Amino acid sequence: MELIDGKKISEEIKLELKEKVAKLKEQGKEATLAVIQVGQDPASSIYVKNKKKACEYIGVGSVSYELSENTTEEKLLSIIDELNERSDITGILVQLPLPKHIDEDKVIKRIDPKKDVDGFHVENVGALVVGEEGFVSCTPNGVIQLLKRSNVDITGKHAVIIGRSNIVGKPMALLMLRENATVTVCHSKTKNLKEICKEADILIVAMGKPRFVDHEYIKEGAVVIDVGIHRDENNKICGDVNFDDVKEHTSKITPVPGGVGPMTIAMLMYNVVSAIED
Ligand code: NAP
Repeated sequence: MELIDGKKISEEIKLELKEKVAKLKEQGKEATLAVIQVGQDPASSIYVKNKKKACEYIGVGSVSYELSENTTEEKLLSIIDELNERSDITGILVQLPLPKHIDEDKVIKRIDPKKDVDGFHVENVGALVVGEEGFVSCTPNGVIQLLKRSNVDITGKHAVIIGRSNIVGKPMALLMLRENATVTVCHSKTKNLKEICKEADILIVAMGKPRFVDHEYIKEGAVVIDVGIHRDENNKICGDVNFDDVKEHTSKITPVPGGVGPMTIAMLMYNVVSAIED
């Protein structure tokens, strides 16, 4: 069994981006990411802080909007309109989840697709479906990088994905298809989940259920990617996969923490830099 080191791979990507940003600066091209947070959800605050730190590291600007919990939808939309118009702002990110009184779909749709560095806008999702260029959702794109940079051959492999959310499962399936895998997508209504997973050469788990997947779901020698992040009853971070039970049955596996997690920010930075490339 080999560990897929997301921390190391994400550092490599960020270093490559830092070098690219320096070159783009010489050509007079600069990126600035606007990060909007509504309310003070502690997890969101940590994500926002880490995103700003990553911008600083690779050498791109960031401006943040920390709005109060009771900000109206109208106010948020007007800030997005203003940022869409500003030529110095090249990327816009609205930290999710938003407070309940704000319609997330409406907010995402308001972002100029050319500045939608999260890749959530329907225009970018559509581009992924038909194979056109566009921003790709960061977490699934990070999984592709983890596989490629760990020399996992995807072509012709049977990839099983547990989860069909708009931000992970669905784009993950499309990306694996783009890489010529044969893809099966499972969800909460799937029958025989165990049997299907046991046929996977590459199993990608994004179901939001702590330590759900054990060795009975794993084909001997499979590659296992765990997208889940949770804190267990002892406040320890764990994934959707029962790592200790599964690891010896895999050829390669991502740990949690230190697997997919760090890749999300690295791929966000990748999108931020792509926004200023021709
Ligand atoms: P989500 O929106 O809750 O989606 C979960 C998916 O799993 C759904 O499609 C659901 O099926 C499916 N599912 C739930 N229980 C199932 C079961 N018993 N059997 C089969 N399928 C089942 O979650 P998400 O946003 O995609 O996130 C998934 C996990 O990844 C979470 O732990 C989240 O914290 C983590 N995450 C990590 C990162 C990162 O940076 N590493 C980024 C995003 C998310 P239905 O569609 O039928 O309900």
